[in-house]
Amino acid sequence: MGKVYIIVISLLVFASCDNQVKKNTDIRKQKKEIIRKDSIVKKKYPDYLNNDFLMGKFDPSRHKRFVRIEDKYTNKHNIYLDKDAYQSFLKMYQDAYNDGFKLKIISATRFFDYQKGIWERNWKKRKKIKNPVKRALDILKFSSMPGTSRHHWGTEVDLNVLENSYYTKGEGKKIFDWMTKNAHKYGFCRPYTAGRPFGYNEEKWHWSYMPVSKLYTRYAKENMKDEYIKGFSGSETAKQIEITKKYILGINKHCF
Ligand SMILES: [Zn+2]
Repeated sequence: MGKVYIIVISLLVFASCDNQVKKNTDIRKQKKEIIRKDSIVKKKYPDYLNNDFLMGKFDPSRHKRFVRIEDKYTNKHNIYLDKDAYQSFLKMYQDAYNDGFKLKIISATRFFDYQKGIWERNWKKRKKIKNPVKRALDILKFSSMPGTSRHHWGTEVDLNVLENSYYTKGEGKKIFDWMTKNAHKYGFCRPYTAGRPFGYNEEKWHWSYMPVSKLYTRYAKENMKDEYIKGFSGSETAKQIEITKKYILGINKHCF
């Protein structure tokens, strides 16, 4: 009888050990799967790309993706551009020049605090508008909310003259027509076209270097949230305005 007990107990112990081993193997498999999926997600984007980068919270003069724009291509000093965007811009500049047009960069990378300075000035100027959402929307007609500007990314340039009417006649129209016909050959796209349902107003002078900005737009779509936009007057309106959906992602669909 005693022997039978020992055999039964031994079998139970073996069975439970076997179950435990199986469980452990399953957990290890699951863990491996999570790590594998995680590395795929991480590989989809370069290591420097995160929400702080998207919101311009870095110093372009020290960032590996950025180069200083030579003075002959801009009316500013010490402004920066993504290095691939810059290389492609130089080719476009040369071809436009050979066709008789001079492209001048008026604005390129703008970091968060710079955009914050512009925003705060505009916020104070509109102190008569008591409703904060209305006040923010009024500023958004002309300039972007800190953290939501594509200019943070280094892939964007404002060219020649910051006025839509300039591009409807004479020299401006010629430049605009040349850009409309040729910019895509160098990877540039115009994100702020007319007739979009929402977002920033039309800007005929603003061009985006798609091979890089497309990746950032996708990252923003997957990771950016309105509540991350903060640190300046009126930032609490970001959520009500749906700043991510309507402004960051409210661009010409051909620039996605
Ligand atoms: Zn611009």
